[in-house]
Amino acid sequence: MTVNPRLAPFGTTIFAEMSALAIELDAVNLGQGFPDTDGPTEVLDTAVEAIRSGLNQYPPGPGMLVLRQAIAEHQRRFYGVDYDADSEVLVTAGATEAIAGALLGLLQPDDEVVVFEPMYDSYQACIALAGARSVPIVLRPPGYRPDLDAVRRAIGPRTKAILVNSPHNPTGTLFTADEMATIARIATEHNLIIISDEVYEHLVFDGLRHHSMAEHPGARERTLVISSGGKTFRTTGWKIGWLCGPANLVGAARAAKQFLTYVNGAPFQPAIARGLGLPDSYFAGVARDLQERRDQLVPTLRAVGFDVFASSSTYFVTVDVAPIAPGTGGKEFCLRMAREAGVVAIPNEVFYTAQNRTAGRSLVRFAFCKRREVIAEACERLGRWKP
Ligand code: PMP
Ligand code: GLN
Repeated sequence: MTVNPRLAPFGTTIFAEMSALAIELDAVNLGQGFPDTDGPTEVLDTAVEAIRSGLNQYPPGPGMLVLRQAIAEHQRRFYGVDYDADSEVLVTAGATEAIAGALLGLLQPDDEVVVFEPMYDSYQACIALAGARSVPIVLRPPGYRPDLDAVRRAIGPRTKAILVNSPHNPTGTLFTADEMATIARIATEHNLIIISDEVYEHLVFDGLRHHSMAEHPGARERTLVISSGGKTFRTTGWKIGWLCGPANLVGAARAAKQFLTYVNGAPFQPAIARGLGLPDSYFAGVARDLQERRDQLVPTLRAVGFDVFASSSTYFVTVDVAPIAPGTGGKEFCLRMAREAGVVAIPNEVFYTAQNRTAGRSLVRFAFCKRREVIAEACERLGRWKP
């Protein structure tokens, strides 16, 4: 292999691997987190009109003004936080590029980043690409609450940033306002940057509410808030994301981002701007709809015999397979379930650092962002299966 040694440990992403397997086996894909219905008509129509009206060339480097203004307005409307659309908002190729831009733009070799694992797989890879190190804090079932004393202990002279993801992939845990405020306080005490991945900000259930990290005292001036239109508007293939923060941090991310994609998705930018301005009823409806799908899937997972951990947000629910397949690893279990039951899920061990992989060994993530009939089919297949 000729791959850069910094990337070598990460191989092919599990999402590509499991989605390919689902196609090969004609299995129900509850693995990779993407919806199987289109987003709101207003958003789709705006993109079509934009293409027809000739918005098909490079947009401006920081993103189109209409979208930057819509993002700033969205942060004000939902979180009461003000950003200057010119200097404090950057449009990116999905949240994935916002994460890459932030980490590559800010980190130097041997810097350390405190992360909570399990974690979205691009964090570790980008931290490693920057030559920096992940310092993981393990979130443990059943509650997956962050151990904030462990965060304090993890901070040393080389710590540059804390990377937070709430609502949390893959567990569906929502950090409380107190937990977020404590992380903000720790970061302030140690003069650390916070990178706050909030892509599931609107997908929160059971009457709970997400608070942006930037709302908490001391946080706004040291936090890059990252989000994306993909989850909220069911347009994951458009890859329109963004980050917001103080101009110096946004500038650092922009310095790296301009050499990654430079720009992307011109006709999709006004469309996501349109989406961000939809009425409150749209955002509440997306959450309600996903909550119903969670409630459709979870009883079957319990009936099959999994230990199911509560999910109060995102597209995902995590289960422990140990009660029905003692000693079996999640990856092996997922491959068997795909072949024998025709249902694909994601083994959570890929969301852990190598040193803590055993913490996720028997855990598996199911996505419920699918049509009701697809979830029903998965439930029927799982109900028939004798693991
Ligand atoms: N962060 C988290 C926690 C995610 O689950 C995802 C979705 N894969 C992303 C970032 C990336 O979002 P996008 O598709 O907008 O790049
Ligand atoms: N965020 C989605 C997930 O966690 C998709 C990730 C991807 O395909 N890179 O499943």
